[in-house]
Amino acid sequence: MSEVENRPTNFIRQIIDADLASGKHNSVQTRFPPEPNGFLHIGHAKSICLNFGIAQDYSGLCNLRFDDTNPEKEDIDYVHAIKKDVQWLGFEWAGDIRYSSGYFDELHGFAVELIEKGLAYVCFLNGEETREYRGTLNKPGKNSPYRDTSVEENLALFEKMKNGECKEGECALRAKIDMSSSFMCLRDPILYRVRFAHHHQTGDKWCIYPMYDFTHCLSDALEGITHSICTLEFQDNRRLYDWVIDNVSVPATPHQYEFSRLNLEYTLMSKRKLNTLVEENLVDGWDDPRMPTIAAFRRRGYTPASMREFAKRIGVTKMENTVEMSVLEACIREDLNDNAPRAMAVLDPIKLVIENYPEGNKEALTVKNHPSDESQGTRIVPFSGELYIEAEDFREEANKKYKRLVLDKAVRLRGAYVITATRCDKDEQGNVTTVYCTYNEYTLGKNPTDGTKPKGVIHWVDAQESLNATVRLYDRLFTVPNPAAESDFHSVMNPESLIVINNAKVEPSLANAKAEQAFQFERQGYFCLDNDIQAEGELVFNRTVGLRDTWAKISK
Ligand code: ATP
Ligand code: MG
Repeated sequence: MSEVENRPTNFIRQIIDADLASGKHNSVQTRFPPEPNGFLHIGHAKSICLNFGIAQDYSGLCNLRFDDTNPEKEDIDYVHAIKKDVQWLGFEWAGDIRYSSGYFDELHGFAVELIEKGLAYVCFLNGEETREYRGTLNKPGKNSPYRDTSVEENLALFEKMKNGECKEGECALRAKIDMSSSFMCLRDPILYRVRFAHHHQTGDKWCIYPMYDFTHCLSDALEGITHSICTLEFQDNRRLYDWVIDNVSVPATPHQYEFSRLNLEYTLMSKRKLNTLVEENLVDGWDDPRMPTIAAFRRRGYTPASMREFAKRIGVTKMENTVEMSVLEACIREDLNDNAPRAMAVLDPIKLVIENYPEGNKEALTVKNHPSDESQGTRIVPFSGELYIEAEDFREEANKKYKRLVLDKAVRLRGAYVITATRCDKDEQGNVTTVYCTYNEYTLGKNPTDGTKPKGVIHWVDAQESLNATVRLYDRLFTVPNPAAESDFHSVMNPESLIVINNAKVEPSLANAKAEQAFQFERQGYFCLDNDIQAEGELVFNRTVGLRDTWAKISK
């Protein structure tokens, strides 16, 4: 399949195809406009893949623009985190980073233009009165008593607002549109309000800040955005978007198109709620691997390719729906099954002593890094007469379904020999602590000559040479598919969303693991080295995803 045939198709791309065919546009310019008030989440990843993906496929450009008109809630740290996430996903923005705040001078000019045209006025109704005058969906609004103030007076009042002579909440600049419109957003919306707040980009230059609906469309126009793509909750606001564009002297006419936002089962997607999780220390920061943020997925071992693939599979429509977690997990599992090197790690170790192994002997076994991809090469795994195996891989007796180590039965050690268990030691509680076995020295890489073929393969590490590691097993943060529907999400948090194993044993090659690099721990799942390790040389592995979809079974 050629690159072009492989492109996703969706209703937005069809609109663009038509616009290019009709000559309405000669090139495509999109933008991704996050507000720097939190980390980006996987819903934003959908929007990033859509906007940057379109620019890529149509040889157009996509801007990264910080929509920063709420100085109180915003922070420069979020700006840095967002840039990093966009780049990590594999995208490049056109030219310099843009800031809505970079247009504050122009926006002020456009506001003055509206006042001059008699299309905006300074209103002194307080918050409660403004709400009352606005009316409801069933009841038209009433005109503000300040609606007919003269142009000259409005210009003077707006200047006073700008110069810091009005108090916060005392007055606001409003558009003069239609107080009886069936679209609430057209009932003389607020364009500018007074805020004596320090801004992370403009410092203390401004004490009036423009509202989102005024800022966004004009920023789009100033940047020559052709297709301004946003989520469905802005559908009604498109009327206001167009009204502003139609009534000021803009250099270009952008159009807004809406698609349905991503909802993902078992997660919260609102930045406000994610912020609560962080603030209340219910998680270990915005990049805690249980969070749905891009930084968290990165820390957990998800790859940029798997996230782009996810965005492709869920598609772009106008239909609200909730995507199952299994769709996302399938994307990373498929990627890592192909690309993650294998390694051995024992999470719940018990000793395995090979009684007929030559005293003091050591071997360096060569083991394939991937069962089918030769290009991933091999590595050396040390082997001796004392190993660790998983406690759950040994039973004194078991039925035929248990294809692991059983007393008097044979099993293969992955990449090594066939062994037969002979006896075991137990502690006072009856837990097995050491298993004794014999090995068949002729079975390295081949079956026993007596025609027997062991049914199972288990993983192991050398007792002497293995390294201690901490392993974090992550699970869903919530116990219900739609935590956002709960009146209080605290009550549906999964108490077992993180299990920390402190005494895991891993093969020595993992000392060279790099942060965020994924491995398949044989028979356990996919894991990566944590990217926030505190002590030099410490090994902490995060579980990315299990080998199979265990939740599918549970929910059935
Ligand atoms: P939230 O509601 O989660 O706090 P937001 O919409 O306030 O997010 P913005 O920073 O304003 O966050 O979003 C930047 C862009 O990402 C917007 O164009 C927005 O439509 C889009 N976006 C936000 N959430 C989602 C989502 N769940 N799915 C798809 N796109 C999203
Ligand atoms: Mg928003």
